[in-house]
Amino acid sequence: MTSILDQEYIEPQRPYSQRELQFNRNRLFRSLRIGGTRANHQRCRHIYFVKRYGRKEKEIKESKSDDIGNCSVCWKFNKTPRLLKTKALGLIYRYTELFETEPEILTYSDCDVENVFYNWLYEELDGTGDNRRRHRDRLPPQEGDVQ
Ligand SMILES: [Zn+2]
Repeated sequence: MTSILDQEYIEPQRPYSQRELQFNRNRLFRSLRIGGTRANHQRCRHIYFVKRYGRKEKEIKESKSDDIGNCSVCWKFNKTPRLLKTKALGLIYRYTELFETEPEILTYSDCDVENVFYNWLYEELDGTGDNRRRHRDRLPPQEGDVQ
């Protein structure tokens, strides 16, 4: 069983424009149903955009505070299998460092960190598999795919 945390970073084969990178980010947020509301936990210093129309989004908007309730990152980290905890810690650290302030210039590798972070946080079921990959594998071959 593979976790998204085990995946190696793959260097892009071509340059990506800022527009393309932003397009991919928007697609990531849409596909995971993440909105523009961010939780910001003072105690553990974790930050993350919360699910659109979710309970956390509601709490943040109603309380007008972005430091609410239980931290999803801490929760997910506790659920992460012990063998993957070091990788999860590294991922959280890098994501927080890169995206605490919205970057002015995006890079492919920074967006990859963001992509892995949110797939780990919201999509992966307790380290029992990489759902993103499974979804992709289930798609029928597309024109232009390398077979
Ligand atoms: Zn936390």
